[in-house]
Amino acid sequence: MNNAHRFERSEALRMDQSDPLARFRNEFHIPQTATGKDHLYFCGNSLGLQPKRTKAFVEAELSDWAKLGVEGHVHARHPWMPYHEFLTKPMASLVGGLEHEVVVMNSLTVNLHLLMVSFYRPSGKRFKILIEADAFPSDKYAVASQAAFHGYDPQEAIIELKSKSGHPVIPHEEVLEALDREGESIALVLLGGVNYYTGQVFDMQAITQAAHTKGCVVGFDLAHGAGNLDLRLHDWNVDFACWCSYKYLNSGPGGLSGIFVHERHADSKDLPRFQGWWGHDKATRFKMPSQFIPLKGAEGWQLSNPPILAMAALRASLEVFVEAGGMQPLRRKSELLTGYLLELLQQRNDNASLRVITPSDPLQRGCQVSIQNLDGKGKQRFERLTDAGVIADWREPDVIRVAPVPLYNRFVDVWDFVELMSEVH
Ligand SMILES: *Cc1c(COP(=O)(O)O)cnc(C)c1O
Repeated sequence: MNNAHRFERSEALRMDQSDPLARFRNEFHIPQTATGKDHLYFCGNSLGLQPKRTKAFVEAELSDWAKLGVEGHVHARHPWMPYHEFLTKPMASLVGGLEHEVVVMNSLTVNLHLLMVSFYRPSGKRFKILIEADAFPSDKYAVASQAAFHGYDPQEAIIELKSKSGHPVIPHEEVLEALDREGESIALVLLGGVNYYTGQVFDMQAITQAAHTKGCVVGFDLAHGAGNLDLRLHDWNVDFACWCSYKYLNSGPGGLSGIFVHERHADSKDLPRFQGWWGHDKATRFKMPSQFIPLKGAEGWQLSNPPILAMAALRASLEVFVEAGGMQPLRRKSELLTGYLLELLQQRNDNASLRVITPSDPLQRGCQVSIQNLDGKGKQRFERLTDAGVIADWREPDVIRVAPVPLYNRFVDVWDFVELMSEVH
């Protein structure tokens, strides 16, 4: 193909026409500008868009509650007592877990803590937690407070991983070097599978293997991984993971979290865990026995009966993922869509102060691209993009994050964004 042609808008339109997932955009409400045009929405990494069917799913539960009251626990069209089970299969398949390895419950930071109760078990010389220096703040507060809870000084117990070069992306070899150097003192490796700031994807399989060799437990925060990458948590042998569902999984603001606990821990009797009635054996839960018998696998970590309205919204959204064929086709499109964004940025951007910090290698990134503004004008540039109808997100001190999402973003959205970017110097 003639190269000049490749960078024309008509080519973006042509790619949309041959996109087998193009029809899914129509499954979503696209936020509108004051003049009634579609926003260029690139914020699915922060809050995913609302599927059109979500309203009906939530209304069905409101209506069953109105008609049935408490009887809805058993007689609702989707009975509330086992409601979380309706989510398990599609959720497990999105993250590559077996069904009894996955459950939906609580929100993300709560689950990070609950899982660390079981999987951060410092003792003797092995008491440290390895995390990225640029981890999401909530994760850093969570690990520091867990270390302090066990009586350690977080300054000593938390190892913050940074690259030697000072670049925000951490080379894989340097993760392995840190494990090699400090592995014997590390109780827990807890990384964002996709770093929220740079969009870097860690090689979760290789890191898990290396960390296990050193005797460390390995968990991943997949807030930016679930619904973005083709994850294989079971095969990668990860000990545990958790993620939220309101980013790429489109379940709505404050939506629920999913957890993964590898099957080798499914029946572990020696793992400490916080207990609640929803984690208790279903057969005897309502006999209210005094002794806690945990359900097998991830379900055994549940505490409370879950919020059905939030679960209904998540069920609607997971149904869209199932109809789209799951993560494989979505990831295929995502690689093309974000690859196209990177290619256009490189071709069109003559501004030396704009630097993409996300790795270009598709194995080391998901859909998000983080653009660093080295000239101090990033905030102003971001505001001009916003005025022009772009919804992206700004991260202090100097990064604009843009995430083209394969379910609802088009190639032409990417083209229009890069055009605007070149106008807002
Ligand atoms: C979005 C995000 C969170 C948010 O946590 P909540 O408990 O859902 O508020 C935490 N960690 C990471 C890595 C995130 O990306």
